[in-house]
Amino acid sequence: MAKIFCVANQKGGVGKTTTAVNLAAGLAQVGQRVLLVDLDPQGNATMGSGVDKRQLALSVYDVLIDSTPVRDAAMLAEPCGYHVLGANRELAGAEIELVSLPQREKRLKTALAAVDADYDFVLVDCPPSLSMLTLNGLCAAHGVVVPMQCEYFALEGVTDLVHTIKQVHANLNPDLEIIGLLRVMFDPRTTLQQQVSEQLKGHFGDKVFDTVIPRNVRLAEAPSYGLPGVVFDPSAKGSQAFVEFAREMVARVGAAKPRPAAAKKQA
Ligand code: ADP
Ligand code: MG
Repeated sequence: MAKIFCVANQKGGVGKTTTAVNLAAGLAQVGQRVLLVDLDPQGNATMGSGVDKRQLALSVYDVLIDSTPVRDAAMLAEPCGYHVLGANRELAGAEIELVSLPQREKRLKTALAAVDADYDFVLVDCPPSLSMLTLNGLCAAHGVVVPMQCEYFALEGVTDLVHTIKQVHANLNPDLEIIGLLRVMFDPRTTLQQQVSEQLKGHFGDKVFDTVIPRNVRLAEAPSYGLPGVVFDPSAKGSQAFVEFAREMVARVGAAKPRPAAAKKQA
């Protein structure tokens, strides 16, 4: 059975996509079968996995609106070792089209049910808003991974997100929980970041992942090569942190046993 997780935070530029693609690559490296769903019309997770968003024959749009099977629309991101259900600008229109469709919040959930046995992990890269698209992600998921920068207003932002997740939990998806908060773009030399990090642990306790992702230029460079940092430069500090994070995720959610080369077999 696949464990489905949203990478979400209603703020833009906080590291959601970087977390989604690198966690996907890290999980693949530790032997998990992974599907990455790009739910952002910007298509950054698609491009960052080496799949050209301008040339998608089928995308997550077709899955949500036309009930195209995920198996038909997902593609193997060859060097990354995981599958991608891609997105592009077309997905922006889905926001409006979904409103008049039956089961509008549950269409991704229904679509993913058909590939439940094919993957150990499904990761959903959410757009920076609480839209109908994000709601589809939250309704499909077992949990949410929240990447955040340890900055002054960070706690306030996360409080809003926690509130939203509680509402979805109460009204639409009783399975949904926060799996954890991931500190990203962390600079240990900055006193403020250390303070916010401590505050975060005081407030959320165990929900703060042990792994910390450092600010690392290699992670920022990797997307222009169409690769997650983990694949682009495995020796970079940021990449190593993401592989460590993948291990922490597997331990935290009790995923399937590692299956070396599992990703290749899917192809
Ligand atoms: P989001 O998906 O939340 O909008 P991104 O993952 O696209 O955020 O990250 C925003 C920017 O920050 C991107 O340019 C990305 O390359 C950069 N970035 C993300 N994480 C790191 C990191 N750990 N170190 C350096 N740059 C990072
Ligand atoms: Mg993004």
